[in-house]
Amino acid sequence: MITRPRNVSSSSSSPSLARAMGRHVLSVLHRSTGLLLLSALALALPACADPAPAPPVSHVTDHDNLLLAEWHTEFGVPPFDLIKNEHYEPAFREAMALHIAEVEAIVANPEAPTFENTIVALELSGAMLRRVSRVFGAVSGAHTNDTLQTVDRTLAPVRAAHADDINLNPELWERVEAVYEQKDGLGLTPEQDRLLEEMRKGFVRRGAALDEAGKARMREINGELAQFSTQYGENVLAETNAYELLVTDTADLGNLPPNLVHLAAEKARERGYEAGWVFTQDRPSVEPFLDASPNRDLRKDAFMGYALRGDNDNEHDNKEILSRTAALRAERANLMGYPTHAHFVLSDNMAETPDRVMSFLEEVWRPALEVAKQERADMQELMNAEGVEGELEGWDWRHYTERVRKARYALDQEALLPYFEVNSARDGVFMVTNHLFGMTFHERPDLPRWHPDQQVFEVREADGSHLGILYMDFFARPSKRGGAWMNSLRTQSNVDGFVTPIVTTNFNFPAPAGGGPSLIGLDNTMTLAHEMGHAIHGLLSNVTYESLAGTAVPRDFVEMPSQVMENWMGEPEVLRMYARHYQTGEVLPDEFIDKLQASATFNQGFITVEFIAAAFLDMAWHLLDRPVEHEARAFEDAEMAHIGLIDEILPRYRSGYFSHIFSGGYSAGYYSYLWAEVLDKDAFQAFVETGDLFHRETAQKLRDEVLSRGGTRPGMELYVNFRGREPSIQALLEARGLVDG
Ligand SMILES: [Zn+2]
Repeated sequence: MITRPRNVSSSSSSPSLARAMGRHVLSVLHRSTGLLLLSALALALPACADPAPAPPVSHVTDHDNLLLAEWHTEFGVPPFDLIKNEHYEPAFREAMALHIAEVEAIVANPEAPTFENTIVALELSGAMLRRVSRVFGAVSGAHTNDTLQTVDRTLAPVRAAHADDINLNPELWERVEAVYEQKDGLGLTPEQDRLLEEMRKGFVRRGAALDEAGKARMREINGELAQFSTQYGENVLAETNAYELLVTDTADLGNLPPNLVHLAAEKARERGYEAGWVFTQDRPSVEPFLDASPNRDLRKDAFMGYALRGDNDNEHDNKEILSRTAALRAERANLMGYPTHAHFVLSDNMAETPDRVMSFLEEVWRPALEVAKQERADMQELMNAEGVEGELEGWDWRHYTERVRKARYALDQEALLPYFEVNSARDGVFMVTNHLFGMTFHERPDLPRWHPDQQVFEVREADGSHLGILYMDFFARPSKRGGAWMNSLRTQSNVDGFVTPIVTTNFNFPAPAGGGPSLIGLDNTMTLAHEMGHAIHGLLSNVTYESLAGTAVPRDFVEMPSQVMENWMGEPEVLRMYARHYQTGEVLPDEFIDKLQASATFNQGFITVEFIAAAFLDMAWHLLDRPVEHEARAFEDAEMAHIGLIDEILPRYRSGYFSHIFSGGYSAGYYSYLWAEVLDKDAFQAFVETGDLFHRETAQKLRDEVLSRGGTRPGMELYVNFRGREPSIQALLEARGLVDG
């Protein structure tokens, strides 16, 4: 039984599309992620019990808008408990005005331009706006509401225009150029030199060197793009929340884990159904259903609902928005003298050119596609052997993957779940972090939060000194966007005294139902470790200038520190340290660990193919050499046919909900995750080669040469300083089972 309040029937899609819906929707925005920690180690680590927190109290003064006031909170954390929705818009407007005044003062300075009075002054300007933007970005991503969405929509073009007012200010550009021209005689430190290089490049890349007509068109394009980006993200959220699948026959749940059954029942009650179970399109809901349900029709319904988000020809359709976005980006690149948006973006990344990205993707694509075809054949055989007629389809893939996994490795994912309760997974990640870098985590339920489910930790160095603050927001809810991500509420810097970082990590794990545990599994534990890796990158930053601190590095380098953390979580010796049954405390049995090892490369053909298909799709949209709009579905179909994608697999993100590239910062950059995996697999080998996964000197080197250095040097240089050589792709191919190890 299905109730669908929205039009998501398969008839709304083209036949080729329907056929192409075979992809499953595993895991996270930052796809390789995971981590945890455990009660055995609780002695070594600050415990993370769940004390009933007293209501947090913040004190603020000096301004009637709390976002602009001085915060007398401990560690200077934002007073989330006191900030009101209505504070944001006026705070943004006032902070932008302040920023403009600061920039005007730099321009009006009668003294000749110097590094201090121009470059450093500009670096320090806009601090209040950064504070407001970061709080808003964090809260609106993790716990939005109608008011915040309206603020976002209203201010998107205003904020874009504000950025252009500064980036395209001719007098400001003249001063920056004047400093740049004398740079060699200024006696700058390497970091100061880097700041100047990056700042000048930023101005050029935003159009400062264009003529007046070019600048005017640049402003128009940026304004439109900002609106499209906001609208695209809202449409994805609306489409995700609008879908529901009501299941009324318990047989249709299959072997769905009990906690998820409970969660689905709660969801049904919340939505006013007296009986049954409701599944939605957030991943923790739809993926386990596709794994578990033996009902092929229902699987198809859920699968199509997922795949057609943003592509339902309704008021939330994203096709025109994304096509116009790609066209405007092409026009902007042309204006800047680049053949395509991809050329423009990549010229500032490690990869440097589209050719290098495409040939890298090709190199992994070919073996992966062959492996995926073999996986398909195995599943087809099992399906037909069970008496299900016809061809394997997209909505069958996840289900039969689990069946084959069970048959071949006797590995029952569901039986593993009790060993990966969310808090013990978190403690496992803390433990790994502690063993590598000596940091400890101290829960602070008294600090203000934006949602009661959030956890807050003070992070300390091995010697007990304060390092920073870490927020963790684990559970899916309608007010949160999909995926998992990290952001900074305050970035490290050391211009006039050391400023400590405040970072947040966000996830979409299944919320505990009926007082039960949240059992997240190993994949989500990897996600937890991944976001923790970004958090560590922010927390361990030790540079002078904020704009070069922490995660301020190219897209195809930023995923290295995050992905490298995932490597520990699946290692047998590490699993034995943290993976314990949430009820009995029993360590994950060796039998399970052996099976996990044996099946480590299982389904990697599929996982790799769906990823690279999306990376090719991203490149296709951004290799347009003219500002021409394309019909999105036909464009995508043609591109997928061109690369030889098989019908049963969809790109990991279809164009209609590819938020990374149409409302995030990953345009012409989705390949970065795989690119960074070359680095992270190779980096992890540095530990393996010592014979000690927690080798302290290697960890210290990783910290000193990479994690603490932010963007003060190019990524490859940082990497080579750590590893002693450039990375090899071999470790990645072996880890994915795409070559013989
Ligand atoms: Zn990431």
